[in-house]
Amino acid sequence: MLKSKTYQFWFCTGSQDLYGDVCLAHVAEHSQKIVEALNASGNLPYEVVWKPTLITNELIRKTLNEANTDENCAGVITWMHTFSPAKSWILGLQEYRKPLLHFHTQFNREIPYDTIDMDFMNENQAAHGDREYGHIFSRLGMERKVVMGYWEDADVQKKIGSWMRTAVGVIESSHIRVMRIADNMRNVAVTEGDKVEAQIKFGWEIDAYPVNEIAAEVEAVSKGDIDALVEEYYDKYEILLEGRDEKEFREHVAVQAGIEIGFERFLEAKNYQAIVTHFGDLGSLKQLPGLAIQRLMEKGYGFAGEGDWKTAAMVRLMKIMTQGMKEAKGTSFMEDYTYNLVPGKEGILQAHMLEVCPSVADGRISIKEQPLSMGDREDPARLVFTSKTGPAIATSLIDLGDRFRLIINDVECKKVEKPMPKLPVATAFWTPEPSLQTGAEAWILAGGAHHTAFSYDLTSEQMGDWAACMGIEAVYIDKDTTIRQFKNELLWNRVAYGK
Ligand code: MN
Repeated sequence: MLKSKTYQFWFCTGSQDLYGDVCLAHVAEHSQKIVEALNASGNLPYEVVWKPTLITNELIRKTLNEANTDENCAGVITWMHTFSPAKSWILGLQEYRKPLLHFHTQFNREIPYDTIDMDFMNENQAAHGDREYGHIFSRLGMERKVVMGYWEDADVQKKIGSWMRTAVGVIESSHIRVMRIADNMRNVAVTEGDKVEAQIKFGWEIDAYPVNEIAAEVEAVSKGDIDALVEEYYDKYEILLEGRDEKEFREHVAVQAGIEIGFERFLEAKNYQAIVTHFGDLGSLKQLPGLAIQRLMEKGYGFAGEGDWKTAAMVRLMKIMTQGMKEAKGTSFMEDYTYNLVPGKEGILQAHMLEVCPSVADGRISIKEQPLSMGDREDPARLVFTSKTGPAIATSLIDLGDRFRLIINDVECKKVEKPMPKLPVATAFWTPEPSLQTGAEAWILAGGAHHTAFSYDLTSEQMGDWAACMGIEAVYIDKDTTIRQFKNELLWNRVAYGK
């Protein structure tokens, strides 16, 4: 489901024709070497494509417009090897619509003390040219990423690689289509939002379908297809009968198999990559989609419960941003449920009624069945597991009426002290930065939801950069957060972003 597109990033070096052919030949040679080194480094998730040196207004404008229309180009990386008068860039940049990284580097690492002369200085003056170039972005009020450092250094290359994932998130955001087979849960505020504005800002298409249309697709799934998938489940997962009748258990699991197949067919046929459900609006579905939705999330679909299309789209977006990542630890829909307030062991137990993505699982995954405390359907089968440890981010996109705000919290995932044998859902447990108290206070002051889009594999910087490209407010809750400063930030943002 989550198909990797072979995106590329163009590497454009700026200069001018003042320096003569010998110098420009060096500029081209140096930038080609940098591109080769970046591609060979293994630190970039996407290929960099070298482009001829940009030395005139016409060529700059033409190249940036070609980048706009090239479907494989997800962004442009620019570097001023020499001086490139920035007025030359105005028209091109005004017409440019994709993410842009300003790579502030230099071909030589060390000043060649013994041989340096004015020719060398004129040829290697990124310190000079990149400042002129950066100025025009600030003057135009254009969003761009600036990365400074030596091009051979792995940490610098990784920064570029990290930004590439953000850029692909920006480009792919407009391909996200969310299917709503249920409206927002009655009376709930934070999961509501302006779908037209979401399409204007993020490019998301958010459409409603009667739940019984997808239920009909589920009912049309053949017994053979269902049996084969149930076999796969029984091979792959541990079955926790816990005293239930084995035959009935299997029949309930088969209902989820039918939902997984039927839902996926319906989503694929209609070209949607995210879906929301609602436990109170299931039409003729026999169970709340649990195991089925968990498996679809693992395949790359976005999901959130109770009609929460914003979080469903964010889960899909974050799965796109992490695609193809080696040793990825997982990305999921999550919900803040209950606290541990024991000093030194503070944290939030995360779960949902059923729907946590198995990509975050640590170790064994089991199937359980248990009644839902809400709704009026069969006891649904669900995958149960605990999640990985380590740093992660929890994000919440909220609609404040006059604007969207993305809240990004660094969290530290931990194991709970003891098993929870009676809890029939998958869980994670984390302590928000900078502490449970300050983290939760800041989250609530910012208006963050109980639903989050969660990932071990993305950073707050990547998500904040995505928000900046989308032109929306982002606030960070991390190790540096203090409530006094955070409240001021919210106040100032209201002036900066509010209408
Ligand atoms: Mn919920």
